[in-house]
Amino acid sequence: MAAPFPIPPGAWLGLLGGGQLGRMFCMAAQSLGYRVAVLDPGADGPAAGVADRHLHADYHDPAGLARLAGLAAAATTEFENVPASALEFLARSARVCPQAESVAIAQDRIREKAFFAANGFAVAPFAVLSTAAEARGVDPALVPGIVKSARLGYDGKGQIRVGAVPEVERAFATMGGVPCVLERFVDLACEVSVIVARDERGAATTWPVAENRHRDGILDVSIVPARVDAALADRARAIALAVATKLDYRGVLCVEMFVTRDGTLLVNEMAPRPHNSGHYTIDACVTSQFEQQARVLAGLPLGDTRQHEPAVMLNLLGDLWFAGEEATSPREPEWSRVLSHAQAKLHLYGKAEPRRGRKMGHVTCLAPTLAEALAVAAAIKRDLGIPGADEIAPAAP
Ligand code: AMP
Repeated sequence: MAAPFPIPPGAWLGLLGGGQLGRMFCMAAQSLGYRVAVLDPGADGPAAGVADRHLHADYHDPAGLARLAGLAAAATTEFENVPASALEFLARSARVCPQAESVAIAQDRIREKAFFAANGFAVAPFAVLSTAAEARGVDPALVPGIVKSARLGYDGKGQIRVGAVPEVERAFATMGGVPCVLERFVDLACEVSVIVARDERGAATTWPVAENRHRDGILDVSIVPARVDAALADRARAIALAVATKLDYRGVLCVEMFVTRDGTLLVNEMAPRPHNSGHYTIDACVTSQFEQQARVLAGLPLGDTRQHEPAVMLNLLGDLWFAGEEATSPREPEWSRVLSHAQAKLHLYGKAEPRRGRKMGHVTCLAPTLAEALAVAAAIKRDLGIPGADEIAPAAP
């Protein structure tokens, strides 16, 4: 029997993956009155702690997937490396957003780049490396560059910088000979991302453009609105919308882009789910990326994406739990140092074990002007000992 549509409150929504994105999805869906079942191979992930039910099973486990399909009328994912076969399995009996095909494209850089290039989206010059011979014979115009594994790369993992052609073959070997792309190094003015949500009727919304700063390959700060000119911001939103339309996408998608020094926008990659650079939408926008994910999944109208106030989001990594480089035992950071800034909204993901480089939470700083929001974010960085405060707002002399 087909589920009623829109799916009524009180019904179950299913989620593949149990990390912080899943936790924030659960909270948003529960606010709308839904119950959420999370399928997560981990025992006590951030989403399991707030989900109405945790199905402790692997993504390949047909019994676990069948239990999820039996319970939930619709399912989504918070994890882009979920096997496409799991989404296909669920799609036999449930509404699935995003579709398996979109996820399959986004989780493979080679397919993703081919999709962007075939549909006229500008990307950094690149070549596919499938064999050592291809790595040896690359076009010298593609170096200096970065060798990126086609699959399972995230937060700068699975990437090796190369300065000359002979290094490309070595990097390919270091990667274990798995399929890779070599991408030419681009002279970046900044990096931006746009979150887009699209439903099955083709209605779509984008949020304001985020300007993203990374540290050691991990997102450190998102500044919204991005400090780019209005025409470029409009183009970035139009590109994200066009990517979602070309994919006939259903759900929430993040499109990450490079802004080159000559003002060109190049599409870098996409994530078929809410994204770290969209966390600011929880506190700064009428509708968050997570609420929109629940709305699309349940067949509800899309919410307004308007931003109330400028926002600066800081990621809180596990390093904060270790006082100094040498520390081996964790201690709880002093959260009063964050909360004493009344414009700061603290989100902690409930992860039991802090590890260096692990995303443990985030803070969104809100203020009437972006300069003030940046000053609050810089002050919090200083108070907590997160490097790079002066890069976002120099200390007063
Ligand atoms: P990615 O995993 O592709 O997002 O790459 C991680 C980070 O490496 C990006 O956010 C950029 O800061 C940097 N990066 C990646 N590709 C390039 C490129 N072609 N040119 C310059 N910087 C890059």
